[in-house]
Amino acid sequence: WGGFTPLHYAALHGNRALVDLFLSAGADPNLTCDAGQTAFHFACQGNLYIIHQMMQYGADLRLIDLQGKTSLHHAVTGGSIAVHYLWETGMFRFTDTDMYQVTPLHLAASTGNTEVVRYLRCAVDAVDQQGATALHVAAERGGVEVCWILLQRTGCRMLHQKNHSGLTPLDLSKQGKTFHQQLTKLLSRYINEPIHHKPRESHLYYWTLFFPSLSGAAILLIAAMLGGYGGVICGLLFPWLARSIFTQYHRMTTYQLPNPVYLGTLIAGLFHSLLCFYGKMMPVWPTSALTQVSMVHFSILLGLFCKVLTQDPGALDREESDPRFSCIADLVENNQSPQRFCPYCELFQPDYTKHCKLCEVCIKDYDHHCLFLNRCIGRGNHRLFLFFILSMAAAHLLFVATGISYLYSKMPGGSHSLSLWLTLLGEEFWVAVMMVMNALTLLWEVWLLIEQFDAVATGTTTYFRQCESAARQRSLAQRWVIALSFLLEGRRR
Ligand SMILES: [Zn+2]
Ligand SMILES: [Zn+2]
Repeated sequence: WGGFTPLHYAALHGNRALVDLFLSAGADPNLTCDAGQTAFHFACQGNLYIIHQMMQYGADLRLIDLQGKTSLHHAVTGGSIAVHYLWETGMFRFTDTDMYQVTPLHLAASTGNTEVVRYLRCAVDAVDQQGATALHVAAERGGVEVCWILLQRTGCRMLHQKNHSGLTPLDLSKQGKTFHQQLTKLLSRYINEPIHHKPRESHLYYWTLFFPSLSGAAILLIAAMLGGYGGVICGLLFPWLARSIFTQYHRMTTYQLPNPVYLGTLIAGLFHSLLCFYGKMMPVWPTSALTQVSMVHFSILLGLFCKVLTQDPGALDREESDPRFSCIADLVENNQSPQRFCPYCELFQPDYTKHCKLCEVCIKDYDHHCLFLNRCIGRGNHRLFLFFILSMAAAHLLFVATGISYLYSKMPGGSHSLSLWLTLLGEEFWVAVMMVMNALTLLWEVWLLIEQFDAVATGTTTYFRQCESAARQRSLAQRWVIALSFLLEGRRR
């Protein structure tokens, strides 16, 4: 049917075993189907191993299909590593076009393949037969993230380019119906900026960073003015605040931007806890021994906080690329996962390395991208991160304990009825709210530390711990020894 050979089907379904069988039995990877596509064209849309095998068996890289599409065009569906593999052969250019002047970047933009759009860094200005750039194509289908990536690369000048019908990307976006409303808003915001400007959201960055601190302060002030009803107001407004913070997540998934709202939440927590601790709960100052201990502890905590925000998390340099591999074919021949090639940094990752899309670097001993610190945790700062969490947990414990003793001291002597407690909580809502938040954060941190212990004690990180199945046989005592030796000496594996 359609001129397909069995090899076409095997390649289309990514069936390695059948491809091996057919090729070794003499199947020709260069036979074309009715649309002029070879089995190799289909292979390029998926499995890297099959691409490699067919090249060994003499697949002709110069063949184009009836639409003039090269193997590189077909590889756009296969992802950036497949595209890079073909590029390594030296037979293709990213500016290659089919008979409608469509480049691989146009194709990636039209299918919404953001990974390939990120990888294809050239030919952004190329226009197809209708005079459309990749930005026109992405705008027409409402691809917010693709448009954002392209604008980051070219600046706002691309917004003014017209296709042969005289339409700009914004005009095309206005005609659409699906995700176009959000996109139209985004493009309208930047169309009046100077053409060499790259879209940035700097004002939004600082607003988002300080939003939790400021709105928390506003709620507490309103509550204070309402006296005895303060507790009720806090009970209503703080859940609203939490909701509006956690719904901020969409900005990251849409534009892949590091979103500072969680860092802002952490800063708000530190700031408001400090204010409540010293302003409200510690009236005898600075004579009490507890105050002095807490001040030393908070200084250490703030020092660790600043250090963890500035220290390099362990970014992988170009020279540290795994020397065993120099091209994708090396990976395939050594039976390694093709994912070990990072198409964004264009290097081969050593073990336990992962690329972080938010930080845009490969991180050694990758643990996770911490939303609340707006940074990656890896080889460079993993120990520091653990010390920071431990000292945060101690601070929360100190806060909750002091809060309990403070509320007891405010209680009229001997009486413990429920109504009296509720009245007290209404009047002392500031302390009560901060205590609840500190207690909840403490619970979360305990869970986090258990997760971290499980990973560090197997000699790895939370991201890679599944790989260390042998290490998981160790006894609890052995795990403690490994975890402590990491914490004290930084020794892993
Ligand atoms: Zn990378
Ligand atoms: Zn990161």
